[in-house]
Amino acid sequence: MIDIETLSRTYGVNAERGADGNFPRFFERVRGKRVLAIADRNTAPLATPLLGRLGEYAQCGTFVFPSYEPVADERAIAAVKEAAQGYDYLLAVGAGTLNDIAKYVGFLRGVPSGIFATAPSMDGFSSGVTPLIEGGFKITRPAQVASDVLIDLSVLAAAPRMMIGAGVGDILAKDCCLTDWKISSLLTGESYNEPAAALMYEALGACKQSLPAIASGGEEGVARLMDALLVSGYAMVVAGNSRPASGAEHHMSHFLEMDFLRRGERIPLHGVKVGLGTAVSLYLYRTLSARAPFEGCEAVYEVAKRLPSEEWEREILRTFGCPTRFSELGVAEATVRDMFTSAYRIRDRFTVLTLYCTYGMMTPALVDELVACFY
Ligand SMILES: [Zn+2]
Repeated sequence: MIDIETLSRTYGVNAERGADGNFPRFFERVRGKRVLAIADRNTAPLATPLLGRLGEYAQCGTFVFPSYEPVADERAIAAVKEAAQGYDYLLAVGAGTLNDIAKYVGFLRGVPSGIFATAPSMDGFSSGVTPLIEGGFKITRPAQVASDVLIDLSVLAAAPRMMIGAGVGDILAKDCCLTDWKISSLLTGESYNEPAAALMYEALGACKQSLPAIASGGEEGVARLMDALLVSGYAMVVAGNSRPASGAEHHMSHFLEMDFLRRGERIPLHGVKVGLGTAVSLYLYRTLSARAPFEGCEAVYEVAKRLPSEEWEREILRTFGCPTRFSELGVAEATVRDMFTSAYRIRDRFTVLTLYCTYGMMTPALVDELVACFY
């Protein structure tokens, strides 16, 4: 089992378990400071016990987004940056978006930030980078690692089941991220950071082992999932970028996210889109040796052989009530077709999609095959 508190300390993070809003180590760390809590309409009520107790140690303010699902775009960043004036600690109350906003604004303002996690839905709690939306584009900006990650297992276990499934999807994706990285090192000579990869495989292994416990919905399962999500963040810190945690499946997710933004529609959870992208990557890897051979292909086939099947992945997504086909997300078939042929351009990072698309393997027939299988 991962000793998350000790491991977190080595990365300067106070990963603290507490209940009923009681987090003594955190309270000592912010004693006498001015703390701004940043929440949205969904998460604000969950912070009431914590903010009640925190008030005995620090001067507290709150910023609540007027919406239920804010996005981490220029407007949100500007609003929080403005609200954060005069504060010397930013505490996000939420998961992906709020954590991203607090981490980034804290970095811009030069003050520490932390997170009271309300759902184990993605792995950005402890990473030092932040995905943001600028001009409708998804980009990754440097930010800071959260100083404190406050974990109340009863809050996490009460999160919507699909949010827990999203967290599982974000971790299971790492099999493909690490394989994308490995094949890039084989085919392009990109350097592969063994310690970062080993740490990520540890997170992945811990999550896979705990799948039955996570699926049962109890606190023990969400504890293991949260550990894996935190370790994933540390693997990114070790690598110095998101390479061990983000490959083709993330590029597919980002591609779709921009489509939802353009249409002004509600964006499906990150880990849900990533889970679907992972199934596609697993399929591409599993069927790779049936395609035309290329220089260095034997070594790549060897690496790909270690991956699970796309059906295994989809079965798990199904267990958590997550979509297993892109049509369930509310995205057009034409967009998904574009995604298969263009998502690799989102970032200059070699992945299984780059391999297929730049080595002439992403033929119209294969796009039809993928649509039949995944749309
Ligand atoms: Zn992710």
